[in-house]
Amino acid sequence: MHKRLLVLGGGESGVGAAILALKEGFNVFLSDSGKIADKYKKKLDDVGIDYEEGKHSFEMFFEFSEVVKSPGIPDRLDFIQAFKEKNIPVISEIEFACRYTRAYVIAITGSNGKTTTTNLVYQILKAANKDVALVGNVGQSFALRVAEEPASIYALELSSFQLDGIKEFRPDVSILLNISPDHLDRYDHDFDQYADSKLRICMNQSNGDKFIFNGNDEKILQRLTLLPEVLSRCSVSMDKLDAYVETFDWTNKALQGNHNRFNAACAIEAVRTCGLVDSEIQSGLDLFVNDPHRLESFLEADGIEFINDSKATNVEAVYYALDAIEGPILWIAGGVDKGNEYETLDHFVEEKVAALICLGTDNSKLLNYYENKIEQLVSVDSLELMIEKIKDWKKAGMKVLLSPACSSFDLFNNYMHRGDAFKEIILENFRTK
Ligand code: ADP
Repeated sequence: MHKRLLVLGGGESGVGAAILALKEGFNVFLSDSGKIADKYKKKLDDVGIDYEEGKHSFEMFFEFSEVVKSPGIPDRLDFIQAFKEKNIPVISEIEFACRYTRAYVIAITGSNGKTTTTNLVYQILKAANKDVALVGNVGQSFALRVAEEPASIYALELSSFQLDGIKEFRPDVSILLNISPDHLDRYDHDFDQYADSKLRICMNQSNGDKFIFNGNDEKILQRLTLLPEVLSRCSVSMDKLDAYVETFDWTNKALQGNHNRFNAACAIEAVRTCGLVDSEIQSGLDLFVNDPHRLESFLEADGIEFINDSKATNVEAVYYALDAIEGPILWIAGGVDKGNEYETLDHFVEEKVAALICLGTDNSKLLNYYENKIEQLVSVDSLELMIEKIKDWKKAGMKVLLSPACSSFDLFNNYMHRGDAFKEIILENFRTK
């Protein structure tokens, strides 16, 4: 009898898990209560996997022996709880995929810096000619890569939701960058629950495995006592990066800012476990290119630099942007507030921010907080109005920085749409012809 696997969610991770399951001899069915994108339907059709979209056929759900749930589906839903009551295991695509590979896994999580650090690990190893794949949140699903083109090393980006669905997943190296309050709606508004979810990254690690963590992060330090004793721990502290700063050359602009040096230091510790020497690591650092929307400097015109940091959707990310960039800054922030507290930015704002454009449909919180702190302050609800203000206020030597501290859903589809629209309108208006 073939084992029967139900996959919930027809996105990147669900489709990857379904394809791996088929390859491993499972009888697999995929169900998505929303629409499945055409590219994923084609993938399922190509290999002959049955699926449904726009509904869940609950009446057949409990005939399956195991369930792979996409990270976007919250645990608290009644039918997810019902699987648990009937002792049908509900796991994540990561847990499923790790059963079918013996490769070396470097797993990365944290509230901020995951994609950057995963890219760093991947690109440094790639530059040293290692057989490495970039998987997880950052791109292709882990399961799909294991099914279709297995690699010897995986650089794997993990969110807390993906970690919630692991049971035996045991990376060779884990990196926990930082923990700041985020997504708390999925964790009963309990910061400890969210933190413990992140710490699951190393819960199965043991002798010989390595856990790299942020030695300045209070929350991590507080929860460290819960970790297994045998684990080899490597603390990288943001305020003690001198050894890395002196050993390596940091002229690559994609690595500007203390936060990016910290990300790189964590990546360096990880790739050293694969036997890389410093000269090989340096080649990777020199060639490093980050994904767009992360402190992306995309234009210099009339002595003004334009920077797109649309991925900065929380105050912590903005903190490191303001830390990394020299003033005077014309800062553009706003969008959907996530319960932001701006006090931590005060000293940077006082020292570096010359003007603030609040870009969003409801800017009241930013306006209230900054009305007596920043002289040049305006609220706009469109990119066109933002452009007019930039034209009024721009000065040679200024940095125009989009680093919103908020989600993008009031005016845009997502942070990528926001960043692309920002770049496009800036290039139209300021690029010298
Ligand atoms: P994630 O994948 O965790 O969202 P990214 O690498 O995409 O992280 O970066 C998201 C935002 O956080 C960017 O604005 C980036 O400049 C900022 N950032 C990157 N690394 C760190 C870090 N170590 N600490 C705080 N903020 C960071």
